[in-house]
Amino acid sequence: MDYFPIFCQLAQKPCLVVGGGEIAERKARLLIDAGAQLTVVALSFTPQFLSWQQAQKIRLIQRAFTDELINHQWLVIAATNNDAVNQQVYQAANARQTFCNVVDSPQQASFIMPSIIDRSPIMVAISSGGKAPVLARILREKLEVSLPQHLGRLAELAGSLRDTVKARFSRMSQRRQFWERFFTHPNLAQSVADQHQPHIQASLNQLFDAQPSTTTPQGSVVLVGAGPGDPGLLTLKGLQHIQQADVVIYDRLVSEPVMQLVRRDAERIFVGKRAGDHCVPQTQINQLLLQHAQQGKRVVRLKGGDPFIFGRGAEELALLVQHQINFSVVPGITAASGCSTYAGIPLTHRDHAQSVRFITGHGKDITLPEWRCLAVKNQTLVFYMGLTKAPLIEASLLAQNMAPTTPVAIIENGTLPNQKVVTGELQHLAHLAQQCHSPALIIVGEVVNYRASLHWFSS
Ligand code: SAH
Repeated sequence: MDYFPIFCQLAQKPCLVVGGGEIAERKARLLIDAGAQLTVVALSFTPQFLSWQQAQKIRLIQRAFTDELINHQWLVIAATNNDAVNQQVYQAANARQTFCNVVDSPQQASFIMPSIIDRSPIMVAISSGGKAPVLARILREKLEVSLPQHLGRLAELAGSLRDTVKARFSRMSQRRQFWERFFTHPNLAQSVADQHQPHIQASLNQLFDAQPSTTTPQGSVVLVGAGPGDPGLLTLKGLQHIQQADVVIYDRLVSEPVMQLVRRDAERIFVGKRAGDHCVPQTQINQLLLQHAQQGKRVVRLKGGDPFIFGRGAEELALLVQHQINFSVVPGITAASGCSTYAGIPLTHRDHAQSVRFITGHGKDITLPEWRCLAVKNQTLVFYMGLTKAPLIEASLLAQNMAPTTPVAIIENGTLPNQKVVTGELQHLAHLAQQCHSPALIIVGEVVNYRASLHWFSS
């Protein structure tokens, strides 16, 4: 072990930063956050230092560094842009047995600063011993994504309950069991994330009332929007849920790369639907969600795009509401947004489209007055599930006097490596649709012309 990792209590303890530039500012900010009694010495300071001084958060000394400034300091950071000065600081600190960090020079420092993920009071620190700072940063980014923001609040809540738990459970083993149930409770963490006080209280009551060995935790269901395909378009919250789920119920629109992010030991249930070929009827999907939640599992219903946009999300929740199952919904990037962006087509444009309509080609045929509303100028039309209805869309819009030359685009497998985009004119829409396969989105409107100059994503 080249470095000994510790977390220091610096509140009210004198610390010194030498340097008044931007790097020094970053170090000073951390020390201020840790509550240190901070002195900064430098020839000049950034405006941030001056405002900290005004707010009485730090003390500034505007002059050259001299060794005795280190006397009585707990920690010193040398952060000037002058190597000789940094060296002097380090040697002076060493002589006084005071820990000293020299920025960008781990070999000459008696402590180095890790990459941190701050979910106070939970704190994760990563170090490569100064050998591969970029790797440490990449690891930090990975952990940053997988550690939910509410982790700190959950730890605070645990801290506030320590005495109560001690009083309630006399044996160490009982207390340990309690805390295991506390941190793995299917709803508590989510309720803390949502800051839903009644749900938090309900979960706590359940935890305190429960006999450790006989409890079946209450399950929950989260509808998660998986986005149109590119796993990078999944939200952080969506990712956290699919990594915690016991069961993931998904369909055909959820891409393989997104499924690879699901926790390895989670049960996966495919309820794939294809146009006109419902593999699992909707009522059965609803039942599946209910049954698994009733068994105490954390269920994620993973849906393509956004669950509430042509996703039957509300129908799937209805049965859960009826049975008082805890649920939440995580929105996703809907196909219209994802596919148009990856095709270089802005859905609105100040000059060409002041509104945008999302229309489903599935289900009951759109009625005549509706077509009249659709065939207006300065509006973008986005048809979901419209491929087989392309002849109807073409004929109906033309019948409402929409210009036959109106630009159209069909985007197949949008945002995925096999994305295919065909463009043309409204009068040829039905013909263009024959070249495409589901899932595909049809966009009608002047904005399609922007693809020529704005396309950026290619397979
Ligand atoms: N809830 C989803 C839509 C479900 S309806 C959402 O918000 O995106 C299914 C239709 O969405 C498909 O028929 C197709 O029109 C469209 N769609 C979904 N993903 C797509 C993709 N990657 N590429 C093109 N169209 C897509």
